Amino acid sequence: EALNNYLDLKGNIRVFCRIRPFHHEESYSSRNLFTLDESNVFLKVAETKRKQYKFDKVFNQFSTQGDVFSEVEPVIKSALDGYNVCIFAYGQTGSGKTYTMEGKPTNLGVIPRGIQTLFNQASECNNRFLFTFSMLEIYMGNIRDLLAPRSKTNGLKNVPSLSIKSDPDGGIEIEDLVAVTVNSFQEVKRLYEMGTRLRSTASTMANSTSSRSHCLIRISLTSLNATERRIATSKLWMIDLGGSERLVKTKATGKRLKEGKAINLSLSALGDVIDALQTKKPHVPYRNSKLTQVLRDSLGCESKTLMLVHISPDEGDLCETICTLGFATRVR
Ligand code: ADP
Ligand code: MG
Repeated sequence: EALNNYLDLKGNIRVFCRIRPFHHEESYSSRNLFTLDESNVFLKVAETKRKQYKFDKVFNQFSTQGDVFSEVEPVIKSALDGYNVCIFAYGQTGSGKTYTMEGKPTNLGVIPRGIQTLFNQASECNNRFLFTFSMLEIYMGNIRDLLAPRSKTNGLKNVPSLSIKSDPDGGIEIEDLVAVTVNSFQEVKRLYEMGTRLRSTASTMANSTSSRSHCLIRISLTSLNATERRIATSKLWMIDLGGSERLVKTKATGKRLKEGKAINLSLSALGDVIDALQTKKPHVPYRNSKLTQVLRDSLGCESKTLMLVHISPDEGDLCETICTLGFATRVR
């Protein structure tokens, strides 16, 4: 109850920023470029001039995975209260999206911590919860099931693209998407590793990289009361978006160029949808990309959205960083 009031007060869409620590080789001239406080990023634009970007929360280079998760956790818990939830990691390739979402074995990120929280919280509830786990990739406008049975796949290239079905009350289903009932963190971990393996073999086969696709984790929650009657269903999405870098920078040609265009289109479609929701526009343009079609029933006034925007501290990435901060300003 208190948690919900808190979330309602703060609105349904929140935007956090995380800056990655410097890599060793990154230049010292970058060190004064950004100053951060609790909820602002200041970018030095001239000797005495700084441009301010506001966020709901800012994580600096010393912020730990635990620091980040403590701010993300209330949003994840609201899935247990029946809300549909979307958590996105946005930013250019190399800015720390996968580090935040997946983390390292000794330094777990939002996805594993979130799943542990769901199981722990559910075990303390009076209602019984059923969870299913799905994992998919959106690549060049195709929806590919990362848990599709191996006999069907023989590498992801052969996995058919799934289609989206909407029911009369606005619910969205991805046809034939595998949804595995899970009862423990270990089970989820095993499935996640399976999906990750398929994703990486597929990207090598296609001579591509996973940074050119969106990776989506979906947990579907069903709560049952004492008489096993279903009382609520909700979805928690945790999404590692494709890199937001523009094409000029990557000097892409041919296939790379097409992949880049597909990513950029879907990211701007996502920005358009969130912007339309934030400014309460009468028309929300969900139909402009597969990504926003898939998330249609999980992005909206009855849902919670958290955008984790990632930036690089390096001066060499400044142009991309400015674009990323611009996106963040737009959706906030
Ligand atoms: P992306 O997924 O956006 O392409 P990664 O998450 O792969 O970026 O991060 C790029 C590199 O920087 C990786 O080696 C990652 O481990 C490291 N890194 C990113 N963010 C952090 C962080 N907050 N703390 C420590 N290392 C980080
Ligand atoms: Mg990544």
